[in-house]
Amino acid sequence: MTSTKDTINWGSCNWGPGLFIIGYHLFLLIAVPLYLYQYSPSWTLLICSFILFNATGVSITAGYHRLFSHKAYQAHPIVEWTLLFFGTMATQGSVLRWSFDHRHHHSFVDTDNDPYSINKGFWYAHFLWLFEKPKEIDTKVVADLVRNPRVLFQHNYYALLSLGINLLAIFFVGWWTGEYFGAFLFAGLVRMFFLHHFTWFINSLAHTWGARTFCQELSAADNYIISLVTFGEGYHNYHHTFAYDYRNGIRWYHFDPSKWLIWTLSKLRLTSNLKMNKRLFIQERIILDRKALLLDKLQAAFGDYKEMWEESVTKLSESLIVKLQEWKKLSDLYLNLKQQKESKDCLRDIKQQIKAIKKGFKREYSNWKRFYRHSMAMASSAMASSVAFKFQEPPQMTASS
Ligand SMILES: [Zn+2]
Ligand SMILES: [Zn+2]
Repeated sequence: MTSTKDTINWGSCNWGPGLFIIGYHLFLLIAVPLYLYQYSPSWTLLICSFILFNATGVSITAGYHRLFSHKAYQAHPIVEWTLLFFGTMATQGSVLRWSFDHRHHHSFVDTDNDPYSINKGFWYAHFLWLFEKPKEIDTKVVADLVRNPRVLFQHNYYALLSLGINLLAIFFVGWWTGEYFGAFLFAGLVRMFFLHHFTWFINSLAHTWGARTFCQELSAADNYIISLVTFGEGYHNYHHTFAYDYRNGIRWYHFDPSKWLIWTLSKLRLTSNLKMNKRLFIQERIILDRKALLLDKLQAAFGDYKEMWEESVTKLSESLIVKLQEWKKLSDLYLNLKQQKESKDCLRDIKQQIKAIKKGFKREYSNWKRFYRHSMAMASSAMASSVAFKFQEPPQMTASS
């Protein structure tokens, strides 16, 4: 049987970008060793190339991705122009094209309509999809971007702008360092090579390797290592679950330079309306995701005690949700009363109540996690079994008060 993975439909080959990608890879393969054999690039040249790599990279993640594709925040026109300028230098197509493909990716992830579906193979998702003719842009999908004159200008003159800006950057670095060919190689092509592959990793590696904390059924995964080379885009399971959030790494210690940049700019009033989920809402979504998954699995299984397991799943998950809602209500009340400068005693009392609920929730949640793992294993065995599976009686993990 022949595998259809990682294959290109040559009948609809996109020759322009395809030849460009192959051509510059081959050129680098020959030119870099020859250059390094003859010369050693100066530190200034390498630092300039690294700065350009970061500027173009973050313009893709904070700009093309989170601002234009997902509208996760709003930006001052100066910020938009800057992101468009360096984003154009990244040689990844216009914002309109990029966002159209990316919105499709989110809407149809893991299906045949996903333009870079991981189900078509790792290398297909990584870059082979670029060798196929892209779908015509449907302006309904990117109606908001079509109304943006800056985006439209970039789209209409993209090839010219991309070539011009790249030549300008290379010429500037060459003039600064006195190494014109070195600038062409390192500040131009090598910088582009790394940024291309690091961006493509998000579609390939980040859909293969990592934890599926927020939605277990998605191929998208959270991976700290990938986030180190993708300006924070490695928390891809979170991103696919909550695409409108301006963050990908939600904890303060999660490596997400794009998030830090957007947040810093908001303090300077250059970005606004930063969309983000509250912690308890995220927790609630995780519980509901696991509950749906577990009930689905149990439904497909058969055997004694199955109904009792289903009942336990519902009861335990609902009890957790109730606790979360109480926790949220009390937290909101605390913030309100604090704003109204309520007495310290009253605030202390509410804080104590929050603490108690939090403690109870944590205890129940760790029980739930154990129960979830156990139930999944049982349901999987029941599905794999050809005869009626003998479920054990569910453990007595009744919700604590
Ligand atoms: Zn994705
Ligand atoms: Zn996205």
